[in-house]
Amino acid sequence: MNPFSFSAPVDLATALLQARQGMHGKTKFIAGGTNLVDLMKEHVETPHSLIDINHLPFTRIEPSPTGGLLIGAMVRNAETAYHPLVRQHYPLLSMAILAGASAQIRNMASNGGNLLQRTRCIYFYDTAVPCNKRQPGSGCPAIGGINRQHAILGASEMCIATHPSDMCVALAALQAVIHISSSHGNRQIAFADFHRLPGDRPDIESNLAAGELITHIELSPAEQFAKHCTYLKLRDRASYAFALVSVAAALDMADDGRIREARIALGGVAHKPWRLPEAEFLLTGQLPGNAVFVKVADCLLKGAQGQGGNNFKINMAHRAIVRALETAAANSRHKIEIPEAAI
Ligand code: SF4
Repeated sequence: MNPFSFSAPVDLATALLQARQGMHGKTKFIAGGTNLVDLMKEHVETPHSLIDINHLPFTRIEPSPTGGLLIGAMVRNAETAYHPLVRQHYPLLSMAILAGASAQIRNMASNGGNLLQRTRCIYFYDTAVPCNKRQPGSGCPAIGGINRQHAILGASEMCIATHPSDMCVALAALQAVIHISSSHGNRQIAFADFHRLPGDRPDIESNLAAGELITHIELSPAEQFAKHCTYLKLRDRASYAFALVSVAAALDMADDGRIREARIALGGVAHKPWRLPEAEFLLTGQLPGNAVFVKVADCLLKGAQGQGGNNFKINMAHRAIVRALETAAANSRHKIEIPEAAI
């Protein structure tokens, strides 16, 4: 590791001031460190200073003024997944978090850090090879190389990496809002606008500006989606593996069995959680069934393109979307079981 300075402010104003002062160097916030420390050990990240934000007061999950939920950025992933309000009103989020990483990592990883974790593309972690995300303009060896885990949607000639988070796939489906603070004030970003596609700047992964800090994740009231939802994750191992394809599906179903509203987001297939409202509209007013679910999968995967090693993902994603929608439609609240905390 390179030498770096370290501070641990106990209030937000000091943390933001330190971030502003360090903006022109390489300053990083650190919380759980479950991704950043790995990147530092591999010399992928070489910060000059670290600001430890573990003492900042964003450690609660509480009802929001609008009847939704305000989740602190410093709350750990495990605490979020097992929180009674999350389990009851947003089981999709609990399921997605518990599908990710390992119990030990979930106990340590913060919610804010989960949003900012970086791709697990093997070339990105290997500083002996070029990588446009690590060093803009150097090239992308994943194109034509080992790309089993890589993107089938929204990729560019510069980068075909995927976003590794499970939690973010559920947050995309739930239309979360990200609360941000900086020394210039506060602002909010809709989740769909938080992460970026790679385009010609794959090194810029989110629309978080230098010196800005995530403070909360806000969920709007979503009781109607709590009953019929599921998170389906397909991966190479049963646990502690990143998604080849994942699907967060939530349906608001009327008493007559028709779908009032649908939310679907895909993970493991793009540089950000993949959501397409026009695919969801296909389900509005429909009775659940294989024929309409296939149409939704066709729409979501329009333009999907394999890179050789990941060609199988297109068919896999198609089947996963249909299966997730079938499961969500068949689910009822009493069938959705979130395991007890294993903290
Ligand atoms: Fe780097 Fe992206 Fe190419 Fe991976 S896919 S080598 S992260 S540029």
